[in-house]
Amino acid sequence: MNSPSIGWLKRVSLRWGVHPESRKRPAADLPVAVLPLPARLHLPLLQHIGAPAKPVVTVGQRVRKGELIAQSQGNISAPLHAPTSGRIAAIADFPAPHPSGLSAPAITIEADGEDRWTELDPPGDPFALSPQEVAARVAAAGVVGMGGATFPSSVKLALGRRVAVGTLVVNGGECEPYLSCDDRLMRERAAGAVDGMRIIRHAIGAREILCGIEDNKPEALAAMRAAAEPFAEVKIVAVPSRYPMGSDKQLIQVLTGKEVPADGRAADVGVLVHNVGTAHAVHRAVRLGQPLVSRIVTVNGGAVAAPRNLEVPVGALLSELVEACGGCVEAPARLVMGGPMMGHPLLSLDVPVIKGTSGILALSRAEVEQRREAPCIRCARCVGACPMNLLPLEMSALIRAGEAEAAVDWGLKDCIACGSCSYVCPAHIPLVHYFDHAKGELAARERAKMKQEATRQLAEQRSLRMAREAQEKAEAAARRKAERERAKAAKVAAEAAA
Ligand code: SF4
Ligand code: SF4
Repeated sequence: MNSPSIGWLKRVSLRWGVHPESRKRPAADLPVAVLPLPARLHLPLLQHIGAPAKPVVTVGQRVRKGELIAQSQGNISAPLHAPTSGRIAAIADFPAPHPSGLSAPAITIEADGEDRWTELDPPGDPFALSPQEVAARVAAAGVVGMGGATFPSSVKLALGRRVAVGTLVVNGGECEPYLSCDDRLMRERAAGAVDGMRIIRHAIGAREILCGIEDNKPEALAAMRAAAEPFAEVKIVAVPSRYPMGSDKQLIQVLTGKEVPADGRAADVGVLVHNVGTAHAVHRAVRLGQPLVSRIVTVNGGAVAAPRNLEVPVGALLSELVEACGGCVEAPARLVMGGPMMGHPLLSLDVPVIKGTSGILALSRAEVEQRREAPCIRCARCVGACPMNLLPLEMSALIRAGEAEAAVDWGLKDCIACGSCSYVCPAHIPLVHYFDHAKGELAARERAKMKQEATRQLAEQRSLRMAREAQEKAEAAARRKAERERAKAAKVAAEAAA
């Protein structure tokens, strides 16, 4: 049996975190169902961190499943591929899955119903590829962080080649209530997930793989342990069920004992983290040659008739997913993309699934009961819950007093917006909202400052250039004058000699 040999894990005492009600059942207990192919798929060009992809198709063009439809731009970006065969129906703005409800450029594909793959190019043995070749295949397949971060995975693989990484941590925590897409993936597709982890390890040259799974997922733990059994370098570790165990810094601390410094990256302590869904996408991309065109999405919430996990093509509308789960039994009081703690609200279900969509929640009125905010009673529960050892009460007091910069000194930038402090606050103070708002304001001020500085530098360069040009003109005029005087003197001398 492949089991953890991490002695210190038994001794670790976790003082942070909260235990929100899981609400993962019954969706977690049902096998993943396949969403019937929608008539149209809408693919936003920006569904990853970085620059948007650039269309390489034209309206009316026929495409096959897996064919490139938009290429990546710049160092941090990801390409898009057709999730089914059909015809490009539009390249135009379409409502984006964003809290603003605004539209963004997207490619719409009209499905032909045949779902025919383009010709794929699997490499045979992925372990015969060089690390660079693995990264290139992951980049070409458009794989991004599937846990919701959507950072292009190939960029992380390249980072692993630049810095010494001893440990690959695979995040199978899935600590957010309601979500169970990773749980089902690990139960049903463990062999592919373990293969993907080993391919990533090969690409970054890590010594070992530690895959952390919360101990409230015994079936996933058993399936992953069975799949990892033949590989000594892969350790499947049961970690305590506690929110936010699925946060990178917390999982690294629990699995390796290493603390990522404030403002630092996992790589600074010789670790890289990938989500278990990303590992499976890497398996598909490198072992099978398939680009990222579909994913598992949890459809859950008290308003959904029959919650479950669905395998869906990227670009399907959230309303189609909810419909496939029996529709709504009551008008949803709130729509959330992702989990209830770190997900973001949506205005409508008529927006598409993107690569980072782990779940869609249609919450009932009972689930979102409004609670009235009261004054802080200085109970310090928020302090005890914070996984980053911050003082949420002090930070929120400063922010409310209009001193967001001072809150930075108390660690505002280290806040991972997990919402644990808000969750435990008996005064119902929406602490994490204050932090999100302040971080957004500070980022906007920073951008404005950078713009001002860039404008100042441009103006300085312009005056320097103008001064230089004026000097050059004056020197040229002086030279011309001297030449004229020399010529005049020569003429006078010549006339005198004659
Ligand atoms: S948990 Fe709420 S009431 Fe208690 S100290 Fe923190 S902010 Fe104040
Ligand atoms: S302060 Fe930030 S990191 Fe700490 S519990 Fe609150 S939201 Fe989470």
